[in-house]
Amino acid sequence: MDAIELLSDYADYLREKKDQGKKIIGFMGHDNIPEELLDAAGFIPLRMIFAGNDDLMHASNDYLPPSTCSFAQSCIGLFSLKPSQYHFLNLIDHFLVSNHCVSDICTSEIITKYFKIPRLNFYISYTQDPEALKYFKLELLDLKQQLEKLIGREIKKQDIIESIRKYNLFKKKLSDINDLDISGVDKLKIFQKAILYGPVILPELEDFIQANNPNHAQNSKDSVDIFFTGCSIFIGDYLINLIEESGGDIKYFDTWVGDAYFSQVFEEEEITSNDDPLDFFVQRFENNKNGDHTVPYYFENKVTQIKEIIKEHQEKKGKKLRVINHIIKFCDHINIFQSFLKKELQEEGIQVLNLERDYSRANRGQLSTRVEAFMEMM
Ligand code: SF4
Repeated sequence: MDAIELLSDYADYLREKKDQGKKIIGFMGHDNIPEELLDAAGFIPLRMIFAGNDDLMHASNDYLPPSTCSFAQSCIGLFSLKPSQYHFLNLIDHFLVSNHCVSDICTSEIITKYFKIPRLNFYISYTQDPEALKYFKLELLDLKQQLEKLIGREIKKQDIIESIRKYNLFKKKLSDINDLDISGVDKLKIFQKAILYGPVILPELEDFIQANNPNHAQNSKDSVDIFFTGCSIFIGDYLINLIEESGGDIKYFDTWVGDAYFSQVFEEEEITSNDDPLDFFVQRFENNKNGDHTVPYYFENKVTQIKEIIKEHQEKKGKKLRVINHIIKFCDHINIFQSFLKKELQEEGIQVLNLERDYSRANRGQLSTRVEAFMEMM
């Protein structure tokens, strides 16, 4: 299924849900947003995970300076570009303004203000010390109250727990898909679709796993195994195809659309033994040591995590993993980290390509040359 077909089907799905009386909450596509809480209140969570072409990126020029990251610019373009493939975004009822980074908060505020979408607020602590965790819990309580005001009733504890269970199962299936020996292109397509639809797609994920069991492995022995970190590849971006055409095969998507989304799940004993389901979200935030939002140890944690995964892959598969660090131009979080990451990993003999780019079509040739050169070196 290509991106156009996916978007068209998704638009039909959302329209059907709206006809059934469902409301939609949009938000930027990073981690730490408790979508289970939105789901428990009866809303459809909709992550902005669409970016990758220059039309969307340039359509933000009236709202944001060109020194804003290309992803944030594209999120504005989703609403300002006319005619648009993303007209289903007009169905969004509320937009959640959060602070993953400066670009995230500015973009979310612009979307709510200039495209007249009623706003919800959810601020995330930047540290994970006990005081920051208390603040995070207060924000969760506040978000719960904002949602309750909208629906005119209390969100029951049992509904939050059921939603956590549902998302748990869904994320575990995505982890199973991550372990399949299939191409990175196929993996990314199913991750993107799943994150868009949410747990409703569970039966399709099960069928996918069944159809791609080890007897159907499609892995090419000649390809270069890649650990992909940094910024995500969103729906509409050509980067995954470019990497594959250059001989690379992404084995790990260490990004918001990837491992950062599905790696944190809860065991049933934890769920049944905890009194307040909001504490799960606090716990998940505290455990998110490799996420780029939190300081002070993100850089060190990320390097340690990458080294461990690379070692494990070598032991299991007998193949080296090379690192592509994807830096969307002007992404402060990932940009600032690139020299440190390269130096630390290269000292261990791990090859790293820092791939900084925006979504300009004109850059494709240059990008392709850099990726091909990296693959040839291997
Ligand atoms: S600056 Fe980076 S983290 Fe922030 S919105 Fe852009 S891509 Fe996401």
